[in-house]
Amino acid sequence: MTMKQIRHHLNDALLIGYSAGTLPEAFNLVVATHVSLCDECRARMHSFDAVGGAIVEGTQVAELDEGSLAATLALIADTAWQAPVMEHPAQPGLFPAPLRDYVGGDIDAVKWRRVGGGVSQAVLQTAGKSTVRLLRIPGGVAVPDHGHKGMELTLVLQGAFRDESDRFAAGDVEVADDAMVHTPVAEPGEDCICLAATDSPLRFKGLLPRVAQSIMRI
Ligand code: ZN
Ligand code: ZN
Repeated sequence: MTMKQIRHHLNDALLIGYSAGTLPEAFNLVVATHVSLCDECRARMHSFDAVGGAIVEGTQVAELDEGSLAATLALIADTAWQAPVMEHPAQPGLFPAPLRDYVGGDIDAVKWRRVGGGVSQAVLQTAGKSTVRLLRIPGGVAVPDHGHKGMELTLVLQGAFRDESDRFAAGDVEVADDAMVHTPVAEPGEDCICLAATDSPLRFKGLLPRVAQSIMRI
């Protein structure tokens, strides 16, 4: 899957946090998956590599427990720098390489669970208390269970959804915080398939480098 028409990108705070290795693993996966699709964000991330290293050296990382830090570092080693995805020939299928690694295959390998309204989800295993899930939403249906009280990062893999802010199609990411009240609805047509990470605002804030927090205004 290659993406030429991406309109909604990752913000600097997320790219810096990813580069610095301070994001929760659930968010790392969404960031890595978008970056694997998006030339623009990949270029911006490379420009933050040096910045991220400097931030890590000057940042208190004591709040991270060892397990999640190790998992985050392992994820970055696996997905980001060891093998820039676009250097691989494009593989057939829906899922980009970072997501395929987590699922253990493409969409056929996902163990969907119905959550009502025709919607299915699959929670992926990650370290820490942040959550990342695949959502499969039939056309015309609203995203369920949407009382997130914290940071939410949603990447569209197939189809499209709309909410009060805009339209999000394949490759687009929506960055929402608890101040944003929205009702995403899948567009009519093929199922909308998304990868969404969520966390509580306080925990997320604690994991972002200070400079990223100021960029994000949290
Ligand atoms: Zn992008
Ligand atoms: Zn939301």
